[in-house]
Amino acid sequence: MTDTLRQDVLIIGGGLAGLRAAVTAHDAGADVAVLSKVYPIRSHSGAAQGGVNAALGNHPEGRDDSWQRHAFDTIKGSDYLADQPRAEILARDAPERVLEMEHWGTYFSRFPDGRIAQRPFGGAGFPRTCYAADRTGHQMLHTLYQQCLKREVRFYNEWLLTRVAVHEGRAEGAVALHVPSGEVRGFRADAVLVAGGGHGRIYAKSTNSYVNVGSATAAVFRAGVPLEDMEFVQFHPTTLYGTNILITEGVRGEGGFLLNAEGDRFMARYAPDAMELAPRDIVARAIQTEIREGRGFADGYVALDVRHLGEPKIKERLPGIRQIAVDFAGVDPVEKPIPVQPAQHYSMGGLACDENGGTGVAGLFVVGECSCISVHGANRLGGNSLLETLVFGRRAGERSAQAASSGRAVGVEARLVQSVEEQEQEIEALKERSSGERQIALRREMQRTMNEHVGIFRDEAGLRTAVDRLAELQDRYETVVLDHRGRGFNYDLVDVLELGGMLELAQVTALGALERSECRGSHWRIDHPGRDDQRWLRHTIVSYGEAGRPAARYKDVIITDYSPQEREY
Ligand SMILES: Cc1cc2nc3c(=O)[nH]c(=O)nc-3n(C[C@H](O)[C@H](O)[C@H](O)COP(=O)(O)OP(=O)(O)OC[C@H]3O[C@@H](n4cnc5c(N)ncnc54)[C@H](O)[C@@H]3O)c2cc1C
Repeated sequence: MTDTLRQDVLIIGGGLAGLRAAVTAHDAGADVAVLSKVYPIRSHSGAAQGGVNAALGNHPEGRDDSWQRHAFDTIKGSDYLADQPRAEILARDAPERVLEMEHWGTYFSRFPDGRIAQRPFGGAGFPRTCYAADRTGHQMLHTLYQQCLKREVRFYNEWLLTRVAVHEGRAEGAVALHVPSGEVRGFRADAVLVAGGGHGRIYAKSTNSYVNVGSATAAVFRAGVPLEDMEFVQFHPTTLYGTNILITEGVRGEGGFLLNAEGDRFMARYAPDAMELAPRDIVARAIQTEIREGRGFADGYVALDVRHLGEPKIKERLPGIRQIAVDFAGVDPVEKPIPVQPAQHYSMGGLACDENGGTGVAGLFVVGECSCISVHGANRLGGNSLLETLVFGRRAGERSAQAASSGRAVGVEARLVQSVEEQEQEIEALKERSSGERQIALRREMQRTMNEHVGIFRDEAGLRTAVDRLAELQDRYETVVLDHRGRGFNYDLVDVLELGGMLELAQVTALGALERSECRGSHWRIDHPGRDDQRWLRHTIVSYGEAGRPAARYKDVIITDYSPQEREY
């Protein structure tokens, strides 16, 4: 048993949210460490393509833009499920956070007059998405990583968080597995901030990187923080047919059309004004409807056509997309339309928290995609998630530094030693089990179930099937057996440990969707048409009930300036 490692603020996750928080927590005087299961610059944030929203008013057709318009678009896009004061913070702080990134070194694309360029994005009344060609996340992630290196923030790379240590309502550290060596260790901290990203891989078809399984989210859930609005899952309308690699909304922002197999620009029938730039939930349903009703191409896709933009513009604005289409579909968009279909993309729901990432457990904070700070509601607008990591990463970083300076618990060391021992015993027990089911079979069944029954279109029968099957998979998980028993780089073990959490998140998602008998944003119940504000203008909050099973309760949405209206685009 080695000693625990000690810091004031321990941040779990080296994506944009974690790194942005690290910068502020450090600048507020805390000793900060970032623990991440992958090297920070391999976090999924680096895959973000299209851009980040801020009402800068730089676009010649967007000079009148304002943060209030941005807040309104976000709330309308959310189908009125966003907590309005939070959406206002997001929009109000956006220009400052984006300019700060520019000053720190992100090289955004520019207009000829030298200002940061802005492109139109879905559901936005003005062109307000700032971008670095189609590699915005990569640019921003490197910028923040450099800012952390400059400040000498400590990094624990390739450590998998398995437990958050909470004692008497207060966070005091974490337990993690060092993947290269197999060592389990305790990390003592006066504040723990979890920025573990999304969990899209609970679905079979997803744009998310393979590491997006939500194991950090599940660890916080088990530590007693409820999950909020998990039934709201964003399906991106345009992912590459075959691999489901993302084809950014920026393609449509630059003027790309969607065509069905009959050559019809079908969005005219679904969103006559906004066309391809309607919000994602609407475009994804339109594409899926075309496919279901037999107007898609043979195997279930439609065409995204950019040929009319011309080769120079495609090469300048969408170089990454062109390369992806050539490499993974054998299609050069300069010459042929890109084959696209919808797939899971983003988790609107997540760990419940206040506007500073506080969770109700003292010293425990959450931020980024793993959290539900409730700015996206039932449907996130493109470009608002990168923004969320900056705006709320900064706020949570500041609060966690404050929390860390407000006193220390006693007896922590001994409790952490015990948690490490429990974790080691759990791993040993797994290694000793000699027969049972393989994790990959369970994982695939879960992913298929989610795609089939908790997808774009949902109904009671399908959701019940999903809830039952997931419960059965959870039982079978108790008998899972390892193929590989080594210590170093045992990814079989990592997969098994993470699968338990994936099943929990999948179950909460299906449960929330089954209970919510209305259509709102991304949650579309074919057996309950229409939005029902009377009953359902409420957040779903799920925590473990007394029987050890997840149970839902509900909380009113915070409405201030914008009363709910029908969404038309
Ligand atoms: C392909 C793609 C393109 C996108 N494009 C855009 C876009 O253009 N604009 C936009 O606004 N949004 C976009 N999004 C969404 C946006 O990129 C993400 O929501 C955002 O970057 C998430 O940041 P994060 O820091 O919360 O999480 P991530 O960047 O996913 O980082 C999560 C971190 O947590 C760590 N971690 C997770 N579990 C554990 C564990 N158990 N132990 C230790 N560490 C752990 C990981 O190592 C990682 O460092 C896109 C998403 C995808 C998938």
